[in-house]
Parts: sequence; C-alpha cells; structure tokens
Amino acid sequence: MLNIEFATVLHCIDGRVQLPVFYYLQERFGVPYIDLITEAGMVRHIADPLENPVKLATFESLKISMDRHGSRQVALVAHEDCAGNPTTQAIQEEQLRLGLHQLERNFPGMERLGIWCPLEGAIQEIL
Ligand SMILES: [Zn+2]
Repeated sequence: MLNIEFATVLHCIDGRVQLPVFYYLQERFGVPYIDLITEAGMVRHIADPLENPVKLATFESLKISMDRHGSRQVALVAHEDCAGNPTTQAIQEEQLRLGLHQLERNFPGMERLGIWCPLEGAIQEIL
C-alpha cells in the first residue's frame, strides 16, 4: 500500500508566510513533507483562465510532485501585503476561488484547499 507522505503548496515567495503555512498544512493534510512551488503573487497567475508561463511551469512541477512523490492534496495560498499581487483581500479571495477552479479542471483527482494567510492571526481556509 502506498503511504502518502507528501502534499503540495502553490505559494508566494514571501518569507513571512512560509513557515505558518507549512506547519498548518502538515497538520491539515496529515503529511510530514510539503512540496513547495513558489512565484511572487502566485495566486493571480493560477487564477488566470488563459495559459501563462507561470501557470504552465507551476503545473509541470505539480505533476512531478504527484507522479514522483505521490501527492494527492494541493493548497493554493494568498496572503496579506503581497508585493507580487498588491490588491485587496476580497479580490485575492476571489482569485483563490478562480485558482481552485483551474486546479479542479487540470487536476480533478486532487484534494484542493484555498488558504488566506494574514501577517498576524489565524490562517483561514477559502473554499
Ligand atoms: Zn506575496
């Protein structure tokens, strides 16, 4: 039986939000290892319904995480004060929903989770 030890996160580069999200997802997904795919303002690239280079490269890495590490769970993250996606929380939450839809279309077998990470306070799940 395959013992799944990896999940995957599509995340911003921002160093302030790496560890909180990492520890949250270890617990939430019940795995010791989180494969980390980063881009500045990741969520806006994934939310884009059209093809774009960041989304293509990210999905290639996600396929490797699935095929080689057996990941079956993926989180998409947006966060407060994002230098790569300088817009409101409300717009970022809408981008999370659009991004989750893109992930559903391309990776229907994966469990998907949207994450809003404030700079202080509790992480929120966006569905
Ligand atoms: Zn950011």
